[in-house]
Order: sequence, then C-alpha cells, then structure tokens
Amino acid sequence: MTTLRYQVSKPVLHGNEKKYVQDALNSGWISSSGKYISEFEDRVSRFLGLSGGIAVSSGTTALHLACEALGFDDRRKVIVPALTYVATANAVSYCGGVPIFADCEIDSWNISIKTIEKAWVEGVRGVIITHLYGQPAPADEIRNFCARESIWLIEDCAEAFGAEIKGQSVGQFGDVSIFSFYGNKIISTGEGGMVFARNDPSREKIRMLKGQGMSAGKRYWHSVIGYNYRMTNVAAAIGCGQVEDAELHLSERYRIASKYMQEFRPLEDEGLVQFPANIPDYRNVYWLFSMLLKGFDQTMRDRLIDTLLNEHGIETRPFFIPMHLLPIYKGSKDDLMNSEIVSAQGINLPTYTGLPNSSIEEISGIVSDVIRSFGRE
Ligand SMILES: *Cc1c(COP(=O)(O)O)cnc(C)c1O
Repeated sequence: MTTLRYQVSKPVLHGNEKKYVQDALNSGWISSSGKYISEFEDRVSRFLGLSGGIAVSSGTTALHLACEALGFDDRRKVIVPALTYVATANAVSYCGGVPIFADCEIDSWNISIKTIEKAWVEGVRGVIITHLYGQPAPADEIRNFCARESIWLIEDCAEAFGAEIKGQSVGQFGDVSIFSFYGNKIISTGEGGMVFARNDPSREKIRMLKGQGMSAGKRYWHSVIGYNYRMTNVAAAIGCGQVEDAELHLSERYRIASKYMQEFRPLEDEGLVQFPANIPDYRNVYWLFSMLLKGFDQTMRDRLIDTLLNEHGIETRPFFIPMHLLPIYKGSKDDLMNSEIVSAQGINLPTYTGLPNSSIEEISGIVSDVIRSFGRE
C-alpha cells in the first residue's frame, strides 16, 4: 500500500475563512443567530444572481424542505434521475412520496424531456433534476415541460454551483432549487446548504419549517410540525470566506478539466474514454472531473480504481450507483440501461483548487497507462 498522494477532493480555505470564524467565535454567536448567516445568504444570492437564499444545515435538509414546501396532494409520485446521489431520492421518501426513476442520456449523463416522458406514469406531482458532476441538465426545457403538465420542478444544484444555461445560473429554473456546501462541494461550509424558492409563500414556508415551524409573529406558536435545519453562524462565517473566492474555485475547475481533457485526448481519439459532453450555451463547472472508460465493465473499472490507489497513491471515485439498483429503491426499475452503463464506466479524478498542471500530467499519464494495460489483457 503506497501512501495517498492525490485525494479526489479537498476544501481549500485560504481566504478570509479563519478571520470570519474567529470573529464569529469572539462574538459568542456560535449557533443559528449572528450576522454571518444573513451575510452568507446575501452573498450567495448575489453571486448566483438568484434572490432570497435561505441557509440550512445541509443539501439533504434543503431537498427535504423543498419537497415539503411544494407538497404532495393525492399525487405522490416524483420523477427523479436514476443516476444521482441518494439524497435526491430520499427527500421524496421523507415526505411519503414515491420516486419514479428516469434514465440519463448517454452523452450528458443527465435526464432529459425524452427520458422523463419515458418514465412517465399516472399521478406525477413533480420532477427533481440533478445537474450531475457540474454539467447542467436541460432545466429550461424541463421547466417548460413541467409548466405544461402543471407539476412542480426542483433543481438539485448541489454539484453545480456557478453552472449556467444560456448565461443564467442553474437554480433559476426550479420552483425551488437547492445547493450543498458539504466539504467536497465547489464552495463549502463544512456541512451546509441553501434553498431558493421562486415565490414568497414557498419562501415563508421554508423559513418556518427550518426553524421548528414557529410562526414569524408569535414565539413558541408552532402551526406546523417543523424541523431544526438551521445553519450555524460559524459555518456561515466559513461560507462568507468561501464565496469571496468562488470565481477562483470555478476557474480552477475549468483549468483542471481542460488540462485533463488535453492529456487524455489521445485516448479519446482511440475511443477508450468519453469526456463530459460539450453542450453549446451550457457552462459545466466540472465539480469533479469525470469520464467514462469505454468498453469497461464495472469489475474492470473497480479494479482500475484499486490499482490507482494501491499502487500509485491516486484516489479516484466510481460514479454513483443508480437508485433502482439500491435495495432501498428496488422494484421501481424499468428500462434504465444508460444509467447502468454510465454508472459502471464512470470515474471521477482528483479535482481541487491548486492541483498543479504538473500533477495533472502525472495523474493522466498513470491513468492512461493503467487503462491501456487493462485493455491489453
Ligand atoms: C452532495 C449532494 C447532496 C447532498 O448534500 P449534503 O450537503 O451532503 O447533504 C444532494 N444532492 C447531490 C446531487 C449531491 O451531490
């Protein structure tokens, strides 16, 4: 076992994070009151060009609040990508809903109108889309589709902070949209998230639900069963430092992805790897640089991951396992072949601010050699 030389991801906290955290500690406001929370909400909203961000304790709790705020009537089904992080589907389950899984497209790795229509059943209340690994899903088209069908749309932007469709930030299209600030996300607060709602009633409901359902005008008057999903002032202080450097973290990811693609170009030309789709007018933020190992099955991909880690100290990650293959969601599958192929062949490579070009050359060289050696077996 060699020592770990390259992690897949790590937070880079070299701006004003320490100063703001120190200030929060000195102020004594370490829980969910204090100036950094509204400051963080304002800064993120301004940066993304969205209005009224509500800071919460995680991306998962943000998704739960989104589902609760939009609600379910007698229609309990929600279309969710099969290929996503489990939190997306769980949010539906928390509210007593039933996720219906839609396949991804083989090139974009995201769901589309076509795959939503294919998954369609009676009694759909809404759609949740994920912008997977930083690549925008066609949120503008899906939004129009949802409007025509009179159903709601939630955007899970956990992996896509700063991603854009035709110059508009993701998060702009959903009735409610959420972001995550977990340690490996593009900007981080340790644990944390943010919710954006299109209209005031939803916003009010989300604010109320995150704070134990207490009404704004009357202390200890709880008109609904709420939660404690608040962000702490200390976490928000970290976030205020992070958002100041958001452009840097985004440009770094662009540099890193471009460099990987340059290095892997020979393998792409030979059809050995598939890069993220380059979609006109879409800004992919390359949360983690990702590619498919064409012709690999899951066993080979996993063996490649083990080899890279154990023999070269390079940490990589497999793509998410499609939801319908998890025992907790089994039974709801149909034709979700693209998700299974993309999941089995997908790999995330080290992607974090400050990863030098020379390291990317080294990593790419080793990964290329191992891919070729597997291909010769
Ligand atoms: C990270 C992530 C979440 C959950 O965020 P947490 O802050 O870890 O709870 C939800 N959806 C997707 C797609 C994610 O990648």
